[in-house]
Amino acid sequence: MVMDIRANLHEVKKSLPADVTLVAVSKTHPVDTILEAHSAGQFIFGENKVQEMVAKQEVLPNNIQWHMIGHLQSNKVKFIAPYVSLIHSVDSLKLLEVINREALKAGRVIDCLLQVFIAEEETKFGLSDDEIYALLESGAQNNLKNVRIVGLMGMASFSDNMEQVRSEFRHLNATFNDIKQKFFADSPSFKEISMGMSSDYMVAVEEGSTMVRLGSTIFGQRNYRK
Ligand SMILES: *Cc1c(COP(=O)(O)O)cnc(C)c1O
Repeated sequence: MVMDIRANLHEVKKSLPADVTLVAVSKTHPVDTILEAHSAGQFIFGENKVQEMVAKQEVLPNNIQWHMIGHLQSNKVKFIAPYVSLIHSVDSLKLLEVINREALKAGRVIDCLLQVFIAEEETKFGLSDDEIYALLESGAQNNLKNVRIVGLMGMASFSDNMEQVRSEFRHLNATFNDIKQKFFADSPSFKEISMGMSSDYMVAVEEGSTMVRLGSTIFGQRNYRK
């Protein structure tokens, strides 16, 4: 099947409220595919591997905003710190501290989301509700001047049960509101809820998502064999 990326982007954008940000998840897709989306007006791309992001960033236009959406190892932060626009997947204070250190070296403030574990499966990364409150109650984030926590990210269960998925998104939204009120009442920049992928983004938007991360809806199925 030939994918018409421009048409797919058009359809997706039509289905999204104007204030919901679209992250085009380009992992596994070659630079030519990204350029096609770029020429259709898409400037925000999500990758889940540092090496792949670095290789693409080096050859693609500078006006692309790169989002790290996958699990991030501390020792790799330095490779993306000079340019990464948003890290969706912060799942420990240690990682936040490393991002802060590398951002300082790069002379930047890096926007981050705390990844919250909302799914039923055991396999997903992320902080539990208890862990996220413990982290924020410690106040440690207030000393990290080169990171800015701008919201939360979550991945729902891989399930056809949309009521299950909906309740997980609803839970993340409630957590976001509570955390905003308790810890970020004076921070207008704490405003993002990154939730929703190709299979569930319409439900996520109904439940308050401000940022959806879509791969296959835009680019077609991924082929992991290289
Ligand atoms: C791959 C990926 C996506 C996009 O998945 P699709 O189902 O292709 O839309 C979204 N979020 C994360 C964290 C991913 O790794």
